[in-house]
Amino acid sequence: MCSVSAVAELLTVEEALRTVLERVRPLDAEAVPIDDAAGRVLAEDAAAVVDLPRFPSSAMDGFALRAADTPGTLPVVARVAAGRPAARALDAGEAMGIATGGVVPDGADAVVPIELVTDAGETVVVPNAVSGGDNIRPRGGDVRAGEPVLTAGTVVSPSRLAALAAAGVATPRCARRPRVAIVTTGTELRRPGEPLADGEIYESNGLMLAALLREAGAEVEVSAGVADDEAAHEAALGRGLEADVLVTSGGVSVGPHDLVRGTLSRLGAEEIFWGVAMRPGKPFSFAVRDETLAFGLPGNPVSSLVGTLLLVQPAIRALQGVRDPAPRFALGVLGAPARRGPRRDDYQRARLELTDGAAVLHPVRGQESHMIVRAAGADALVHIPRGDGELEAGATVRYLPLTGA
Ligand code: AMP
Ligand code: MG
Repeated sequence: MCSVSAVAELLTVEEALRTVLERVRPLDAEAVPIDDAAGRVLAEDAAAVVDLPRFPSSAMDGFALRAADTPGTLPVVARVAAGRPAARALDAGEAMGIATGGVVPDGADAVVPIELVTDAGETVVVPNAVSGGDNIRPRGGDVRAGEPVLTAGTVVSPSRLAALAAAGVATPRCARRPRVAIVTTGTELRRPGEPLADGEIYESNGLMLAALLREAGAEVEVSAGVADDEAAHEAALGRGLEADVLVTSGGVSVGPHDLVRGTLSRLGAEEIFWGVAMRPGKPFSFAVRDETLAFGLPGNPVSSLVGTLLLVQPAIRALQGVRDPAPRFALGVLGAPARRGPRRDDYQRARLELTDGAAVLHPVRGQESHMIVRAAGADALVHIPRGDGELEAGATVRYLPLTGA
């Protein structure tokens, strides 16, 4: 059923990530209206439709004129507003009032700010000499028409959305969003708000995983609380395998009620690996059926969280062609010693404090994999590499911010 037995050497997190990413086939591109493009990933370079600025544009509220005519008192022959260019060019010895963003008239080579002149209505008094080019934003100074605004593989962040819009890109071509089916398994699971019978608990992973994967760009459907019996598993996982990605929670360990791996195998999915040398989250399975990727996360909520951040979110990003889909670790220092695991990398939940500009990470109390409330009090996931002894306070460590998690 599986290619890696329970006793075999576990894959490292890096090996697991590499293995997952090798299986990713980027999804097709589609034209996306700019109004819906936030958070999407560009499938192609997006070229500017217009020069930006589109015309020589005033950087200030002031007066357009010729630098050679300053200092001096000049007649004001027009008033230019944004979107309302002058009807004619500016002649030598003239000035035109101009607003920020107004088209600098032909014939003018500088704008003098309103604060530096006396506006007498019919005339303007310019007391000091002005240099040519002052306060004029040249045409194409930001980007020229035809040049790339953003390249393929870029995530459209708010500032990038603005850049596309400003450059006239109305329908950028983006990767299709991955369709993700989330199935949480466990006979004991009930929706928050429902009455709980003996032994039952509230289902939480489905909500968390949906939020995490939507954040990575997925379109998500959740089937929560699938009973631990084969028929229920077969129905839910069978449906889930129709998606681009199936993510299950629970039932992926070695107990008699852990049915996910066996069911996936019966449904024709090939298990690529099971078990990753990380804590929490070791019983993690990865299988494929045709183009569908199937991730089996353990049910303990913090294990599910860590596995998703390290291995599932990257796959969702890679499906959309994100250039660097791996988790983006930052560097910080440990605020307290941390014991290392001999065989597994540890990902500890920590509070992040900025001390003299340095990120200092204080692991929270309660590092067990069921303690989602303790994890929720953390701002960072700190990587404690496997090894002997402990990392001292002050040691440099990598961490993943948990603000979006
Ligand atoms: P499992 O991986 O199925 O053995 O589950 C491990 C632990 O996580 C058990 O205590 C489960 O009750 C709990 N658990 C499993 N799935 C969920 C879930 N979706 N939400 C909250 N807790 C869960
Ligand atoms: Mg279970």
